[in-house]
Amino acid sequence: MVVTNEVKTLKNFIGGQWTLSESKNVSDIPNPATGEIIAKLPISTREEVNHAVTVAHKAFQSWKKVPVPQRARILFRYQQLLVENWSELARLVTLENGKSYKEAYGEVQRGIECVEFAAGAPTLMMGDQLPDIATGIESGMYRYPIGVVGGITPFNFPMMVPCWMYPLAIACGNTFVLKPSERTPVLANRLAELFKEAGLPDGVLNIVHGGHDVVNGILENKDVKAVSFVGSQPVAEYIYKTAAANGKRVQALAGAKNHSIVMPDADLNNTVTNIIGAAFGSAGERCMAASVVIAVGEIADELINRLKQKADEIKIGNGMDHDVFLGPVIRQEHKERTIQYIEIGENEGALLIRDGREDREQEDGYFVGPTIFDHVTTDMKIWKDEIFAPVLSIVRAETLEEAIMITNQSEFANGACLYTDSASVIRTFREEIDAGMLGINLGVPAPMAFFPFSGYKNSFYGDLHANGRDGVEFYTRKKMVTARY
Ligand code: NAD
Repeated sequence: MVVTNEVKTLKNFIGGQWTLSESKNVSDIPNPATGEIIAKLPISTREEVNHAVTVAHKAFQSWKKVPVPQRARILFRYQQLLVENWSELARLVTLENGKSYKEAYGEVQRGIECVEFAAGAPTLMMGDQLPDIATGIESGMYRYPIGVVGGITPFNFPMMVPCWMYPLAIACGNTFVLKPSERTPVLANRLAELFKEAGLPDGVLNIVHGGHDVVNGILENKDVKAVSFVGSQPVAEYIYKTAAANGKRVQALAGAKNHSIVMPDADLNNTVTNIIGAAFGSAGERCMAASVVIAVGEIADELINRLKQKADEIKIGNGMDHDVFLGPVIRQEHKERTIQYIEIGENEGALLIRDGREDREQEDGYFVGPTIFDHVTTDMKIWKDEIFAPVLSIVRAETLEEAIMITNQSEFANGACLYTDSASVIRTFREEIDAGMLGINLGVPAPMAFFPFSGYKNSFYGDLHANGRDGVEFYTRKKMVTARY
């Protein structure tokens, strides 16, 4: 590993000030494509997170009273600054996460869209009235923020996922304490810097870097009223239970194992392009990644040949190189875990038709090439577990009904896709599939910011999803006023 001279320890952002953590405990943040250390992360203490919450709680007293259109204007300025700095933000995403620059550029767009949605706060915050619930009596609903919100985010979308949370929470009048992923923490500081430049008052957005102690500090602090979490399933379950036990609202978005059903009438060119993008884009480290394909009927052999052929053409390397499609996975340990899963698949009897362990052109970073298993069955671990890497499992089925039954057996239910031209097949799929985000003839059906991100089963813990109206409901509470004049 190369250590450059300029490696800096990231600062926390509390009360509008950049402060070095008092913790002596720091960890290295490598560029996953090269192993080069790009920053050091402070493992902040409980006291520091509690201090950030106190500051956020104080800021809430004034921020909640700032007129909503005025809050929205800061969001408009923020949107402008994000647009002006788009390519720098995308480069930071590639640098710390490893995904290709094109994917990173798209991720920044997804983040900006969240800010655009949040800038609609005056309309989103409106209440409802009924002038005569009884003779001479009226009733009205008024919407208010809830207080300090805590956000805990994963490594795979350092821009988009934090942007699911703090812009809307803040536009609704809350203040926020963000704990970014300890593996991709760098971009968060730039996002905060730009928000301050847009005119956000001190203390409204705070960032505390670190590990589990910071998370537990958020979960246990009585002044945190709601927790938004995105990450892996076991942690989501833990966050949901612990935050709820501490009397907080919680939305915890979790892991996934998304199935794509390919019907015999599917347009193979479109299907193959979309599955390759959804399975191997962002190195398979997407909660909407296509990790299982169910090939229905006689299309299987040709589909699989074409997928292998396309996978062979994928350019692997440093995502900063604009021709690269597949970057590294996030860490060496994650690469080793992926290799273990490939071995498990072989031992379970699946047919390894493309072996990403053999793509060895990159020595320094954490690279695994596109990997494809055929003849996967539902008793296999590679079918059950979220591998979160460029590993695609193919299951063969005879009918649509069988394919839907297999999909619905997964303990996860984030997304599912269908490739067909048949309206009646699409309708059956839509009605019968037990997952929250469905794609028809496309590979990554992630909803835009004005719709909820709608996972089910073990892919989501809570009631109100992130984004859209659900997000507004989650970050606000209502007062009902009934009046006789
Ligand atoms: P992770 O669960 O390891 O980490 C997420 C956050 O939780 C991090 O900030 C981390 O510091 C914290 N954390 C981890 N373990 C903890 C513990 N024991 N106690 C307290 N805090 C802890 O997730 P990750 O590996 O960073 O992200 C990948 C996962 O996120 C995948 O499972 C992916 O499917 C999921 N994800 C889901 C969605 C969705 O919308 N459902 C979106 C993006 C990512």
